[in-house]
Amino acid sequence: MAEQIVAVPERVMVVAAHPDDAEMGCAATIATWVRAGAQAFYLITTNGDKGTDELEITPEELAPIRDKEARAAAAAVGVSEVQILPNRDGELFYTYEFRGQVVYWVRKWRPTVVFTHDPSVMFSEFGINHADHRATGAAAIDAVYPFARGPWQYPEHLAEGLQPHKVDEMFFWGSGQPDAWIDVSDGIDLKIAALKCHVSQFSDPERTGTGSRERAERVGKEYGVPYAETFRHLAFRRPRP
Ligand SMILES: [Zn+2]
Repeated sequence: MAEQIVAVPERVMVVAAHPDDAEMGCAATIATWVRAGAQAFYLITTNGDKGTDELEITPEELAPIRDKEARAAAAAVGVSEVQILPNRDGELFYTYEFRGQVVYWVRKWRPTVVFTHDPSVMFSEFGINHADHRATGAAAIDAVYPFARGPWQYPEHLAEGLQPHKVDEMFFWGSGQPDAWIDVSDGIDLKIAALKCHVSQFSDPERTGTGSRERAERVGKEYGVPYAETFRHLAFRRPRP
């Protein structure tokens, strides 16, 4: 039986590969927690410039559109700050440098809780888990533990005035083994509003919104609430009371 998460963290950071992944993954939880007083931060690890099947639109044209959509979507759920790393869609690899970019923002924003892709998933209910999702999830896990903690890891951040940081908990979306659920009834409308900001990604945003709502409703039914999101949960320290 999955555990219900009720405590609202002070600061929550989302590490997502593409400009619309946070909306798909955890936006109802983020919206719910922001309404309850949390501060939220989005780190998007690619600019999503190749996220189209259209030949008429070039990556150079698409990147600024997706930037705007991501910022509108984050604003819809009340995110305080969005950073989009200048990595290109589909060109993301787990490297020392890329992991360091994630460590930098963990040290900068000092979140209590981090959300990201479950990098252990190769095949999901939606098909093959994108290579950028796997690279991002893996780098985010390792950034949290141990690299953001160790003062000799990426010491150039400390020279800049940042300090090592310990995150308390992580949550992974898209997991084959979710073991935690959150009542998102207060945030579902804002999640749908955020999803619909990604106009370039959906031929029918209304249908995508309805599908997303129905999914959260199905999950909620399992736990006796109107809407819920589920995650795989990892606590580095004793869970918050
Ligand atoms: Zn994605």
